[in-house]
Amino acid sequence: MKSLQALTRPNVWNLKPYSSARDEYHGSAASIFLDANENPYNTPNNRYPDPMQHELKRELTHIKPVAPEQIFLGNGSDEAIDLLFRAFCEPQTDNVVAIDPTYGMYRVCADLNNVEYRPVLLDDAFRCSADRLLAATDGHTKLLFLCSPNNPTGNELSRQEVLRVINAFDGIVVLDEAYNDFSDTPSLLAELDSHPNLVVLQTFSKAYGCAGIRLGMAFAAAEIIALLNKIKYPYNVNSLTQQRAVEMLHRYYEIERWVKLLKEERTSLMKRFAALACTATVYPSDANFFLAKVSDAVAIYAYLVSEGIIVRNRHTVSLCGNCLRITVGTPSENEGLILALQKYDEHHPTPSA
Ligand SMILES: *Cc1c(COP(=O)(O)O)cnc(C)c1O
Repeated sequence: MKSLQALTRPNVWNLKPYSSARDEYHGSAASIFLDANENPYNTPNNRYPDPMQHELKRELTHIKPVAPEQIFLGNGSDEAIDLLFRAFCEPQTDNVVAIDPTYGMYRVCADLNNVEYRPVLLDDAFRCSADRLLAATDGHTKLLFLCSPNNPTGNELSRQEVLRVINAFDGIVVLDEAYNDFSDTPSLLAELDSHPNLVVLQTFSKAYGCAGIRLGMAFAAAEIIALLNKIKYPYNVNSLTQQRAVEMLHRYYEIERWVKLLKEERTSLMKRFAALACTATVYPSDANFFLAKVSDAVAIYAYLVSEGIIVRNRHTVSLCGNCLRITVGTPSENEGLILALQKYDEHHPTPSA
């Protein structure tokens, strides 16, 4: 890995961050707060939130093998992705490499920040090649995005290829583990300490059932996290979100129960989906969704909309021609989907059958 200073944009490295009232006061005994021009009434929401989310990070260290200094919390993972671009990528000069297809936000952030985006196609089984990814990098490649389990394909990337990329790349590898809870492969978080160029992204939006509170997590070496904290909005995670997240972590058993249920439901839904006449292929999944190639994705998507069922049409995405991405729902939601598609089959006999 290059030095962190060599990777960081000079203006960011030299930036003196905004210092908020709640940043400057570090003690614990105070009971009169006249430092932040808040209204003293309307408790509890009259106060600015903790800018560094200390309580929430402490709770997270009970379930994640990291120290609080290795955690960045943001307004969704999307904030962390954007801040990584802004910290490391000089517009019109630097570039990033990513697997293709993958989560669309990496490219949007690249475009928004005017940074060249270099997609590297997966193979026909959606596998990545460390050699091909590394071959796409050059001296100006600052970030390399991997997503495992990958969205929209649903599969885990090979641990061996991922580690080869991390070990060989001299920039920062961002490994998006938004769906890791649904996978049997352990998170790479356990190996964070031996990989100073690794950033692992996780989120409250999927397994944790909290997409509405907007809370994303980035885990990395303390030096990288300090850099993200320096450039974030001072109060980027609001108090309601911090409270809700702490409450959710106190009910971590619920999350484990949901994940177990959804994995079982994934198995049965994929099996029933594969048996439909309009289905060509159901791809293996390590996530809470699966990708399926169907006879006519555009028509089936429109039909499902007319039945009040929304799935994700991925027809125009690389390697995903005629593919729909299906989120695993409750048993009755999944039943509704299958019944609708069985009705579709009755009205659209496949020519080959
Ligand atoms: C859903 C998803 C996220 C979550 O983004 P949030 O901003 O935290 O809601 C991150 N990465 C991938 C690949 C996703 O599919």
